[in-house]
Amino acid sequence: MDGHASQKGTSDPCRLCGETDHVVVSRTDCHGNALETVLCMGCGVITNDPIPSDEELAAFYRTDYRMQYKGAKKPRKRQVWRNFKRIESHFAVNRDMYAGHRTCLDLGSGSGEFMLMAEALGMDCIGIEPNEVYARYS
Ligand SMILES: [Zn+2]
Repeated sequence: MDGHASQKGTSDPCRLCGETDHVVVSRTDCHGNALETVLCMGCGVITNDPIPSDEELAAFYRTDYRMQYKGAKKPRKRQVWRNFKRIESHFAVNRDMYAGHRTCLDLGSGSGEFMLMAEALGMDCIGIEPNEVYARYS
């Protein structure tokens, strides 16, 4: 975000409330790439403008997302190790929340560390990972 609203945009009506009045809050993503983000003045929802199609999103998450998010096309050992340590801590802190649960669904399961550790605690897990390389690794 640029830090403050900059100007009104001229995009399609809000998909949530139908309002056409909105303010551009950013013109780049966190890496500096062109990506317009707008605030709907009707309901306050913040979205990209234009909102990518389902096909564009599927293609992005299938191939590009992990490279942009993690800077690697496949899981790195150092990253996997850090994930295990972080998840171990998460399970220790949230022990009561998981007590008695036998199943889990991990949306965006990445390289699969959460599922592996949950299964070690006796849960049956299903992971959904759209990135082809990370899903195979998981
Ligand atoms: Zn709206």
